[in-house]
Amino acid sequence: MSADEVATGSTGGLPASPRCPFCDRIETRLVNPFGSQLSVATYWCDRCRTAFEHIKWAGSGSPSVP
Ligand SMILES: [Zn+2]
Repeated sequence: MSADEVATGSTGGLPASPRCPFCDRIETRLVNPFGSQLSVATYWCDRCRTAFEHIKWAGSGSPSVP
């Protein structure tokens, strides 16, 4: 058996540092893999010191599209 491993690190498929929507920098870090919804993760930007939510399934590879 082989698990489906993703090559994005140990964040469970989440990007380690997505681009901040406010200052457009990538000095961000994951603070909560489950934000206000299960489909979003909460990140913290070290540049503008603002928390933002990243939609997990925005990229390619949606688990299930109705
Ligand atoms: Zn920022």
